Amino acid sequence: MFLVKIIPKDPSFVPNKTQILILKKLLEKIYDEIKITVFDNIIFHDCGQNFEKVFCNHCHIEINDFWQEKMNQDYCDIAGFKLNNFITPCCNKKSNLNLLKYEKDQGFSKFMIEIIEPDSLISVCKQTKL
Ligand SMILES: [Zn+2]
Repeated sequence: MFLVKIIPKDPSFVPNKTQILILKKLLEKIYDEIKITVFDNIIFHDCGQNFEKVFCNHCHIEINDFWQEKMNQDYCDIAGFKLNNFITPCCNKKSNLNLLKYEKDQGFSKFMIEIIEPDSLISVCKQTKL
């Protein structure tokens, strides 16, 4: 199964109920199967088996081990991810888990749209800003 997940740039952003209904109707006109989810907390949406590396958003050094440590520290079963700021080990600059650069794309959010088997419309999705 091929799946495209779309999340807002702001991890805490959740559209209101009317906006979600409009969005759902619009997407259902384009795609056969979509799913819209609002989570209780900010969660991490990984890219599954395509996950490769995590880089500092300032100096672009790979920081996979540091990232794993911060993922464990930042997550709470009750509140999800807090996305607290930290100082990067490579260049001593302020960052957070959401600002780091991921290869392949993945991220954090409370709101998510999933498009199941989107066929050739991926390029349209990448160009669309929600
Ligand atoms: Zn750095």
